[in-house]
Amino acid sequence: RAKTSGRSAYRFFEVDMDATILHRTLLEQRLRRAIDEKMVNVFFQPILDLETQGIIGFEALARWTDRDFGEVAPTQFISIAEDSGMIAELADGLFREACETAVTWPNDLFLSFNISQVQLHDRNLPLKIMAALSETGLTPDRLVLEVTETAIMRNPNSARVILDQLAAANIKIALDDFGTGHSSLSFLRDLPINTVKIDRSFTCKMAHNKECAAIVEAVLVLSEGLGLNTVAEGIEQTEVLERLHKSGCHQGQGFLFGAAAPADKIPAMLELARQVRDGQAAGPGSGTDL
Ligand code: C2E
Ligand code: MG
Ligand code: MG
Ligand code: MG
Repeated sequence: RAKTSGRSAYRFFEVDMDATILHRTLLEQRLRRAIDEKMVNVFFQPILDLETQGIIGFEALARWTDRDFGEVAPTQFISIAEDSGMIAELADGLFREACETAVTWPNDLFLSFNISQVQLHDRNLPLKIMAALSETGLTPDRLVLEVTETAIMRNPNSARVILDQLAAANIKIALDDFGTGHSSLSFLRDLPINTVKIDRSFTCKMAHNKECAAIVEAVLVLSEGLGLNTVAEGIEQTEVLERLHKSGCHQGQGFLFGAAAPADKIPAMLELARQVRDGQAAGPGSGTDL
């Protein structure tokens, strides 16, 4: 009996594996077509100054809706693109689209763009980025590139060369998802990092989880000591916003302020944020949805 159930468990596992591989293969084909047809697009999530509560920049986030599968999570299709050699083409297209949008914004707003772990180890990355900037007219000082600790860890030496070149070109570097990877605190000292982005898994639980609050506060103290800018991700509650602000966090993003939205929604978002700042409209947490 035990043997039979063992065998059937194995068969279930096998069927399940096949389904996963099939699904991924199908998604890969769909993604290839979507990239060719420019159906993978960039949305923008506002980043606010926690002191003034004004919008100071936007993070570009990739979005893809497949006809049959519906909305596919960027973590999933970015990983497929990395594994199947499509990431360079996908990322180049998204970056260009993001720059073209960002040049239309008031020029004190920055664009924050996620760099995949494959791109971070591409020696041509700095040149490609500079070319896209000069072709679209976005100045390098308005760009922040977000990299993760995990991506740096894959090859810290090549990451250093590339990040140094980007920094020399006046582009800012943010360490994304801070605290979730195999962090080496020496990265913060040795690499040209300007900003630490505190991962949503810590911030979102701050209000009711002492450990998460302690981690966030420690990261803020550490960053302050190193002279680094701090951004908290995933701010959903006013309580969390207030706590972050009190603890000295500089900037933040989250559903409390607004989720990622298409480029054409940005002018209205900026106008509403301006009204909030000038006291003509209610602030976040009081029912206003940016
Ligand atoms: P990330 O760079 O850490 O981006 C932040 C993620 O948190 C985004 O998820 C955003 O929509 C989500 N988020 C922001 N505020 C809140 C909040 O208050 N509550 C909740 N529940 N979520 C919030 P998204 O867009 O699904 O992206 C997931 C990840 O996929 C990103 O994490 C990034 O690692 C990757 N990604 C997205 N777009 C790109 C891209 O263009 N290139 C690369 N290489 N990676 C990308
Ligand atoms: Mg990011
Ligand atoms: Mg992040
Ligand atoms: Mg994150």
